[in-house]
Order: sequence, then structure tokens, then C-alpha cells
Amino acid sequence: MPIDATQSYDDQNVFAKILRGEIPSRRIFEDEFALAFHDINPQAPHHVLVIPKGAYVSWDDFSARASEAEIAGFVRAVGKVAREAGFVAPGYRLLANTGLDAHQEVPHLHVHIFAGKPLGPMLA
Ligand code: 5GP
Repeated sequence: MPIDATQSYDDQNVFAKILRGEIPSRRIFEDEFALAFHDINPQAPHHVLVIPKGAYVSWDDFSARASEAEIAGFVRAVGKVAREAGFVAPGYRLLANTGLDAHQEVPHLHVHIFAGKPLGPMLA
């Protein structure tokens, strides 16, 4: 079920549990600000999720409340994950579903990275 991006943070959400190591994930990157792991249900040959370490429900919540250091650290981490995975030259797509109409399902901010094939034009 999609979530309301304005709801308060629920620390029992699945990505909070992945961050705490309570459920397994295929991790590919971690630093002070971010964790990246493979999506459990990939929609492209490469489908990675990058999440901030802090407790933020959505892109809206993060962009409004996170510190400058958290924002810079997270944005740099997303770029580093894509670079280190070799996605830059062939190209990749970023997506952050936010709230009900975008069908955000997990109430912890996550940026999807899709890569590994020509992705075609973006559909609204
Ligand atoms: P959203 O629709 O919220 O933007 O995307 C949520 C994503 O999280 C989906 O692509 C879904 O496959 C992924 N996902 C949901 N539960 C898990 C999980 O337990 N582990 C991993 N690795 N991905 C998950």
C-alpha cells in the first residue's frame, strides 16, 4: 500500500530494520550518511536502493529537515554508488517516489538507481 509522505516516522519500517541489521540485504555501499543495497524485486538488470542513515520518511521530509551535511553526504553517496558500480558511461536513472500518487511503499526515504539496459524515455 502506498504511504502518505507527511506521516511521522515509523521505526518498524523495513528499511529501518535493514539499517539496524535486523533483516538481511545485499549491501554494496555504506558510509556515515547512507546505505546502498540491491532491491529485492529488481525492475532493471541493475536496481539499487540508496537510503540515508537518518530517520526521514520521504524526499520531502529529508529536504525539509536534514542538515546540510546529511544532504551533501547523501547526494555524494548516491553519485559514488553509481560511479563505483560502473553506471555512469552507459547511463542510469534515479527515482524517489514520494507519497500516495507516486506509490511510495516504504516510509523511509530511498532513491532507486536503475541501470544495465537502455531505459527508454521517462513516462509520467
Ligand atoms: P517504493 O515503491 O517505495 O519507491 O519502492 C520500494 C522498493 O523497496 C521496491 O522496489 C521493493 O521491491 C523494495 N523492497 C521492499 N521490501 C524490501 C526488502 O525487504 N528488501 C529489499 N532489498 N528491497 C525491498
